[in-house]
Amino acid sequence: MPTETIAIPSGSPGTEYSLTVHRFGRRNARPHVYIQAALHADEIPGMICAQVLRRELAALDAAGALVGQVTLVPVANPIGLAQQVLGLPVGRFSLSDGGNFNRDFPDLAALLVARVGDRLTMDETLNGRTVREAFAEALWQQPRSSAPQHLKAALLRLALDADLVLDLHCDADAALHLYTQPRSLLAFTPLAALLGAKAILLADVSGGDPFDEALSRPWAELAKARPDRPLPDGCHAVTVELRGQSDVAQDLAEADAHAILGFLCHAGVLDGEKPDLPPLLCRPTRLEASEPIIAPAGGILTYRRKAGETVKAGEILADIIDPITGALTPVTTLSAGMFYARSAETFVTPGKRLGKVAGDSLRRSGRLLSP
Ligand SMILES: [Zn+2]
Repeated sequence: MPTETIAIPSGSPGTEYSLTVHRFGRRNARPHVYIQAALHADEIPGMICAQVLRRELAALDAAGALVGQVTLVPVANPIGLAQQVLGLPVGRFSLSDGGNFNRDFPDLAALLVARVGDRLTMDETLNGRTVREAFAEALWQQPRSSAPQHLKAALLRLALDADLVLDLHCDADAALHLYTQPRSLLAFTPLAALLGAKAILLADVSGGDPFDEALSRPWAELAKARPDRPLPDGCHAVTVELRGQSDVAQDLAEADAHAILGFLCHAGVLDGEKPDLPPLLCRPTRLEASEPIIAPAGGILTYRRKAGETVKAGEILADIIDPITGALTPVTTLSAGMFYARSAETFVTPGKRLGKVAGDSLRRSGRLLSP
């Protein structure tokens, strides 16, 4: 199992971060799957799942069971992992500039269409190679100075060769759910079934430039711009939300890792018998119809419904109690659907996001992801 260490400059003399990368299977073998964990550094369910994946993939590789290759980054954000404020971990945002570690990845889709669109031939394999080379070159030319920019560029460089990308996250308190592009739904349906996903949120463009879209969107845009040229799928990328932040347990990690390995069998990365696919637990819905539940008042928060429960339109999901007056403010949902994530906090201020319902009725636009 070759392991590589990649230095991430911190910008501060005497300090440097590093990424550890494990590789399984023959270099250049396909399909190539890239898996990373804890880009939001305080989301540990993916990190423990990656430990099981490393153990299992090492054994499978030694047994010659890898047809394709797997690149595994078990700690995708050493910068965020080192951040603490008064003893509390802060892994979602950079303390240096306030930026969300999974937003504002460089969007190179338009640049790649401009650079490569006219160079595509009638040879699909050659076109795939041309796009990946241009992608790497464009990424290399992006300006980067801060440590988070260096980190984002390094992660994209590791992943841009991959056919399939799994970005392992979790929410505050949540049922297992996935985010991906509509064009990638078919590719990840076996994964959703094996993991038992309770929601699958689809968007062509979520508005926040997350990691998964930075990798998959150029291929989608190129296919749209040049429908007359054969192009491989290139990259299907998915963000996997492995429940809530406190769902860190060995049995869950084993089950999730084995579901991912089953998916790798279905995707032709691993040799061996494909596991039967259980029925999907949800119907995919559009991300623009995912309703953010907003606190209408401040106070003590108590939920009436759990994450992972189906709710009706107009239903009360939670109550907020004013600790001075005792007044009770109900929190309702406009949408019917799956209450797939909720806040882990017990005292909230007005305007705070209290959860998300995967519905069908809303037509949101702009930045569709949580800040
Ligand atoms: Zn996350």
